[in-house]
Amino acid sequence: MANAYDVIIIGSGPGGYIAAIRAAQLGLKTAIVEREHLAGICSNWGCIPTKALLRSAEILHFAEHAKNYGLTLEGTVKPDLKAVVGRSRGIAERMNGGVGFLMKKNKVDIIWGEAKLTKANEIVVTKTTKPPMQPQAPLPKNALGEGTYTAKHIVIATGARPRALPGIEPDGKLIWTYFEALVPQEMPKSLLVMGSGAIGIEFASFYRTMGVDVTVVEVLPQVMPVEDAEISAFAKKQFDKQGMKILLEAKVTKVEKAANSITAHVQTKDGKMQTITADRMISAVGVQGNIENIGLEALGIKTERGCIVIDGYGKTNVPGVYAIGDVAGPPMLAHKAEHEAVICIEKIAGLPNVHAMDKLKIPGCTYCNPQVASVGLTEAKAKEAGFEVRVGRFPFVANGKAIALGEDQGMVKTVFDKKTGQLLGAHMVGAEVTELIQGFVVAMNLETTEEELMHTIFPHPTLSEMMKESVLDAYGRALNA
Ligand SMILES: Cc1cc2nc3c(=O)[nH]c(=O)nc-3n(C[C@H](O)[C@H](O)[C@H](O)COP(=O)(O)OP(=O)(O)OC[C@H]3O[C@@H](n4cnc5c(N)ncnc54)[C@H](O)[C@@H]3O)c2cc1C
Repeated sequence: MANAYDVIIIGSGPGGYIAAIRAAQLGLKTAIVEREHLAGICSNWGCIPTKALLRSAEILHFAEHAKNYGLTLEGTVKPDLKAVVGRSRGIAERMNGGVGFLMKKNKVDIIWGEAKLTKANEIVVTKTTKPPMQPQAPLPKNALGEGTYTAKHIVIATGARPRALPGIEPDGKLIWTYFEALVPQEMPKSLLVMGSGAIGIEFASFYRTMGVDVTVVEVLPQVMPVEDAEISAFAKKQFDKQGMKILLEAKVTKVEKAANSITAHVQTKDGKMQTITADRMISAVGVQGNIENIGLEALGIKTERGCIVIDGYGKTNVPGVYAIGDVAGPPMLAHKAEHEAVICIEKIAGLPNVHAMDKLKIPGCTYCNPQVASVGLTEAKAKEAGFEVRVGRFPFVANGKAIALGEDQGMVKTVFDKKTGQLLGAHMVGAEVTELIQGFVVAMNLETTEEELMHTIFPHPTLSEMMKESVLDAYGRALNA
C-alpha cells in the first residue's frame, strides 16, 4: 500500500529528522510529517538563529574592544538591526532547506500537514492550521499531503512551545516569547527578561551587548538555576560588570501594559514590592510539550507534567507508539532529542546492544557572554547523592591562551568521587567552554578516573589545558596556579 510505512515520525525537529534518517539507514520505509517548518524549533526558532544573533553581538563586542588588541577602527561600529535579524533568518532558511535535502537523499517521504494518531498504527493528516514559517525553503516537489497513513511504528516528535504564566501571557507586542525576541522590528531601549534559564539569559546577553538596558528577574536564588552554584555566581558577576541588572529570588506578580511599554510588579527577596518599567518584556519561564490534539487521550497514551511518559528507549505505554525529544520531557535540548531518536529507532529495528538514555551524561550549554557549559552532577547534587567529593578548580586568568585571547575571565571546575576517583561532573564558565565540554562528556561516557585524565596530554597553548589543570587541582597537583 502506498500509504503504509514501517515508521512514521510526527515532527521534523532534531528528534524527528534524525529518527527518519536513522530509520532509512536501517532499511525501514519511512515518512515524516511536518506542519510548519522542516527542521523544527531548533533550526528555525531555537538553537541556530539565537547563535546567529549572539555571533553578531560577539563581533560587535570585539569591535568595541578593538583597542585592547592594538587595532584602531575608523568611525563607530553600530548594529544594523534589520541586517542582524536578516542574517539570522537567512541561516534558519538554510537549515530547513538542509533538512529537506537530507530527507530526499535518504528517501524519506515528507508529508506536509497536521498529524493526529487515530489508532496505534494509523495517523490522519489534515491541512495545517499553522501558516508556514517565513522564510521556508521550497518543499520537495514530491511532498505528500492530507490523508490517512499507516505504520508499524509511530514516533511522536512534536516538540514544545513557550510556557506562559497565568495573567502574564505573552501578547507578541509588548510581552514577547522567543519567537518575537528573535525578530525584533526595532531595538527596545529597555527590556525585562522573566526567567534566567538558558533561553532567558541568552536573550539577556544578546540585547545587553546590543546596548539595551536589561533587567533579569529570576525566582530562584541563582541565574541559570540548573548550573553549579559557583559557576552561576561567577557568570552573574560578569553580567553585573556588563551592566545587566539581575534580581534573584524575585517574582513578577503582575504586568501592566501601556501603549509602548510594560510595568512589572516584582516581589523582591525581602518580600517588598517594586515596579520595573521597560519597553518590552521577554517571558522565558520554560517550555511545555506539544501533547494536545494529537490523539493521545483516545489511545490512552500516558502523559505527566505536560510530556509523554517513555522508557529509556522512547517507548510509550501503548505498543507501537514512541515519543522522543522535547515532547518526551526534560532536558529539552536538541542533542538529547537526537540521541533519543537514534536509540528509539535502533530499538525498533531490533539492533543488539542499544543503550538506554542516561540523562546524567547529557551536556548543557548556554551561549551567553561568558559561556557556560556542564555535564554530570553539580557539587551540591553530588553531595546530596551521598558522594564524598574532591573538587578541582582552575581559573582562566592562569591560562596563557586565555590571556592571549583577551578572555581571562572564567573557571573550570571538576567534581570527583573521593573513593573511586570517578569523574562525577564538570562545570565551566568562560570563552569557548561550549566547545570544550565535550572532552569531559567523552571522559564521563568512558567512566574515566582522575588518573587517566592526568595521564592525558593536552595541547599547548589551548583553553583545554585548564581541563587537565582542574583535575590536577582536585588532587592538589595544579601546575600553573
Ligand atoms: C530560543 C531557543 C534556543 C534554544 N537553544 C538551544 C541550544 O542552544 N541547544 C540545544 O540543545 N537546544 C536549544 N533549544 C532547545 C531545542 O530547540 C529543542 O530541544 C529541540 O528543538 C527539540 O527538538 P524536537 O525534535 O523534540 O522538537 P522541535 O524542534 O520542537 O520540532 C517539533 C516539530 O514538530 C512539528 N509538529 C508539532 N505538532 C505537529 C503535528 N501535529 N503534525 C505535524 N507536525 C507537528 C512542529 O511544527 C515542529 O517542527 C533552544 C530552544 C529555544 C526556544
